[in-house]
Amino acid sequence: MVDTPAIKFENISKTFQTADNEVKAVQNVNLEIKSGEVFGIVGFSGAGKSTLVRMLNGLEKPTEGKILIHGKRVDNLAGRDLREQRKKIGIIFQHFNLLWSRTVLENITFPLEIAHVPKNERIEKAKKLAELVGLGDRLHAYPNQLSGGQKQRVGIARALANDPEILISDEATSALDPQTTEEVLDLLEDINRKLNLTIVIITHEMHVIRRLADKVAVMETGKVIEEGPVSEVFTHPQQDLTKRFVNAEVDTNNTPDVKEVVNQLLEKYPHGQLVELRFHGDQVQLPVVSELVRQFPEVQLSILEGSIHQLADKARTIGTLFVQLVGSNEDIQEALKFLETLRVEVRVISNE
Ligand code: ADP
Repeated sequence: MVDTPAIKFENISKTFQTADNEVKAVQNVNLEIKSGEVFGIVGFSGAGKSTLVRMLNGLEKPTEGKILIHGKRVDNLAGRDLREQRKKIGIIFQHFNLLWSRTVLENITFPLEIAHVPKNERIEKAKKLAELVGLGDRLHAYPNQLSGGQKQRVGIARALANDPEILISDEATSALDPQTTEEVLDLLEDINRKLNLTIVIITHEMHVIRRLADKVAVMETGKVIEEGPVSEVFTHPQQDLTKRFVNAEVDTNNTPDVKEVVNQLLEKYPHGQLVELRFHGDQVQLPVVSELVRQFPEVQLSILEGSIHQLADKARTIGTLFVQLVGSNEDIQEALKFLETLRVEVRVISNE
């Protein structure tokens, strides 16, 4: 018997009509994701990753093609059927999307309230989930009393409340420091094993893929340009973009140069945060840094190192900047959020 895939994208395209043109966000994507698999989708900002997964739970409708979940067509569902189907897919987000006036327990029970699960049952379930994600002793804390990693644990517990078949992680570790990222990835790995959950990870960070995914698809301008088992894609990347992702991961994390630079900086500014900023395409020309300095005068910014790779195609220019930010944690977080609104990729390397 052939196993029915957990997810099947069949010739999926999505075109957005805007006032003056059309955007081909996803183009002819064919993917099969097996049940229990951790599947990574990697690509730069604007590659079409979010649009592709938003079609899984009907937040966007494909312009062409079919989507099957466990063999059942889902792209044409509406009303009650769509609501039922959505319960089978949990999502965790970069900025957690928690209810700030509710406790940990109340955040986790929230999807169960919507599903009209009786009160006792939902509290019992939420307690078990809090235990599963390691927050059994923080049930009555509010999100702003929690660390970033703990907030994401609440997000994970909440996403699991309706016993989903599929968990989507949309840049869920991108706002976390490396140590916390590792902890959250450990938790996702644990959940994947314990619950045999199919996990789809959207990220721009290759190390997340390497750490957790079984398979990976690389997206560029709406298309899947390369796909395969992670071990193979890392050792034999075929496409230029894939090679850049793989090399960037190796460069940033392993080269002695960067390590040395990081160490020097940490010595020089023991209380600052070392952050890597990446700019793509036209962003390279934006006065992002001067804007940051102007808007956040209380944050002291030192540029450590930078490079711009101008490739043949201007849209593929990549700029990298290592900066050290010194200031209050709160101000720095605000500054980083500001950068993200400009779609600059932000990677916090240290926050001693
Ligand atoms: P990614 O998740 O890889 O960053 P997205 O799926 O968000 O990429 O975006 C893919 C492309 O589709 C981008 O060019 C984006 O601007 C465009 N896009 C996404 N949503 C919409 C929308 N609602 N209307 C118009 N264009 C959109």
